[in-house]
Amino acid sequence: MTKNLRWGLVGASKIAAEWLIPAIRSVPGNEISAVQGGDGRRVDDYARTHCIERAFTSVDDLLASDVDAVYISNTNEKHADCAIAALNAGKHVLGEKPMAMSLEDAEVMVALARERALVLAINHHLRGMNTHRKLRELVDSGTLGELVAVRAMFGVLLPEANRGWRTESAEAGAGVFFDLTVHDADTLHYILGEKFTRVAAITWNNGVSAPGIEDGVAIVAQTASGVTAQITESFAVEHARTSLELHGKKASVFAEGVLLQRPGGSLQLSVGGERKEIPLEHENAYPRVIEAFAAATRGEGRPLVSGEDGLASLRFAIAARSAAESGQTVSI
Ligand code: NDP
Repeated sequence: MTKNLRWGLVGASKIAAEWLIPAIRSVPGNEISAVQGGDGRRVDDYARTHCIERAFTSVDDLLASDVDAVYISNTNEKHADCAIAALNAGKHVLGEKPMAMSLEDAEVMVALARERALVLAINHHLRGMNTHRKLRELVDSGTLGELVAVRAMFGVLLPEANRGWRTESAEAGAGVFFDLTVHDADTLHYILGEKFTRVAAITWNNGVSAPGIEDGVAIVAQTASGVTAQITESFAVEHARTSLELHGKKASVFAEGVLLQRPGGSLQLSVGGERKEIPLEHENAYPRVIEAFAAATRGEGRPLVSGEDGLASLRFAIAARSAAESGQTVSI
């Protein structure tokens, strides 16, 4: 019998509590043996609430324990240092997005994982959604024909509970680029099967983020083959569902409610303006992230989103931010 993959959680976060702890426990062959958080009393409570055997305040102490893999979900500015320490300690890493706050750090992570033959994956879970898998299939199979236009609208009203560092802390990479742009970039790279090579952007603030930090952006981006996308992202959209549209020469597809943590949403195929629902079964994407990751640690296949994939989405987000700051189109 093979031994379970023993996970250590770096960061006593909401995303771990709501999605990743249940996901890890739902996949046979995986167990959670430790959690780390910055505040002693809080991490002890967190460990107790989630029935995790050991709690640490120090990342190094967690890494010195017998965990095989870590899931890093503390605030953004800590991701790279924790991932680099974990890889140096010989642990496989599933990191939250953004994988790092600089390209230099992200490149070090990718190189270290490669050098040490460890799995580095980033939790862009949307690739695991049946909606996005179907969109990719529609592009791949030629059902849509040659693509002529793409639109994405990742607009939400950011819940009060998710504000704080995400809307106020420049140090933690507050704003939409490291929160929403990285997800859209990864999702579109996956669906289109190619990466964006140019980007322009304009930001704004609608009062959800602190003054001086954007809470909305309109991005225009183009891939090497010439597919052009308009991407709108906002923390201040209260009355709409997130959406994606792919327009091809043979058909268009309209996807609604598909850019969230919860599985769900709908896809409609449109030919000649007639829309038809595409039947879909929805499934939680996070167990898929864990399944593919655990298999990759056994040398079977690749993670859903590799370190290289995470680096590409980070590269896009940083280019979009620099395009907004400079008012220039940026080549990627
Ligand atoms: P949280 O705000 O819940 O947690 C982030 C960190 O903040 C924790 O690790 C903890 O630090 C600290 N913290 C949280 N709550 C408290 C509290 N009550 N008192 C004191 N400190 C607290 O963040 P999220 O779970 O929303 O996001 C974590 C990461 O996951 C981010 O990088 C985000 O981008 C990513 N994310 C990814 C999603 C996905 O679907 N892929 C979805 C949502 C988030 P410490 O551990 O050091 O104690």
